[in-house]
Amino acid sequence: MKINFIDLQAQYRKYQGEIDEAIHAVLESSQYIMGKDVTQLEAEMCAYTGAKHCISCSSGTDALLLALMACDIKPGDEVITTPFTFIATAEMIAFLGAVPVFVDIDETSYNIDPRLIEQKITPKTRAIIPVALYGQPADMDEINAIASRHNLTVIEDAAQSFGSEYKGKKSCNLSRIGCTSFFPSKPLGCYGDGGAVYTSDDELAGKLRQLMNHGQGERYKHKYIGINGRLDSIQAAILRVKLKYFDEEVPVRAAVASRYNELLAGGEVVTPFVKPDRTSVYAQYSVRVKNRDALAKRLNEQGVPTAVHYPIPLYRQEAFAGLSYDAAEFPVAERVSSEIMSLPMSAFLTVEQQKYIAEAIHGK
Ligand SMILES: *Cc1c(COP(=O)(O)O)cnc(C)c1O
Repeated sequence: MKINFIDLQAQYRKYQGEIDEAIHAVLESSQYIMGKDVTQLEAEMCAYTGAKHCISCSSGTDALLLALMACDIKPGDEVITTPFTFIATAEMIAFLGAVPVFVDIDETSYNIDPRLIEQKITPKTRAIIPVALYGQPADMDEINAIASRHNLTVIEDAAQSFGSEYKGKKSCNLSRIGCTSFFPSKPLGCYGDGGAVYTSDDELAGKLRQLMNHGQGERYKHKYIGINGRLDSIQAAILRVKLKYFDEEVPVRAAVASRYNELLAGGEVVTPFVKPDRTSVYAQYSVRVKNRDALAKRLNEQGVPTAVHYPIPLYRQEAFAGLSYDAAEFPVAERVSSEIMSLPMSAFLTVEQQKYIAEAIHGK
């Protein structure tokens, strides 16, 4: 059997008629930038997440950049985040000349450990960026409480968690600002790059919208130094079709994950743990295993692709060498990054494929 890590083809086939039609309509409209699909998508996204404002943009990375710019993050400021994430989270902090201050992760959820945050706050701290890793929101109540005690902004990096819930509220709407990505392989993906910023703060929303489009409110009147961070109409049109069916896919992803949990129970891998007051959209289904390289090789030989999210914690990245972090400060991230391994995951994975994968893991 040959299995895809993520089956984007199968998903396209399912919605092909509507997606092709939507793309064609944009081509005919000749409104390729900031067309009506962009405006409508943003309204639909607000309805979906419960956030008052959605500012669509060109990628998840730009969403984070815009959020930090809107908070006036400046050179020398400190922003607290997790080291066990995709580079973009800390990269945009450093891109603005600010300092990413890493805090170790929780051993069960792999998200930032809120108990370790307060000791890293200094007079230079401006914001906290928790990441909802693999689609599971972080401990947002604890993090928001710390932030309000110290007058900090919480920016949720929800690039992997669009659609998941925390205490009945949707990810992206769990703090002052939420950022997501529509990269093709994310739970809700377009067919290129895309992202969005969410907030319920009117003033912040206005600023974000201007920053996203060269800092202009009215055409050719530039209030801020901004970026070209626009989402294009074709991507918005594709997302509108996929968003319609997204609520059908989320429970299927959860069912695929719980089937994995059952099939892998009692074996040598540690299955993911989702805290009871929240849900995951399983951007990744990641297990922990002691002999990762050997298992990955064996699975690959049997047609089962795997990936590692993420093999090198950010404090070990050459790009951050100048910040001289001590790996000994992050024992959990060290351990988890050496053992974590993601299995094929999508709403289109069949029971037969999952049984085959589980048997390959069990070595049968
Ligand atoms: C994918 C991802 C990003 C970046 O999103 P892009 O759309 O690829 O720029 C940021 N943070 C996390 C946690 C991600 O997984």
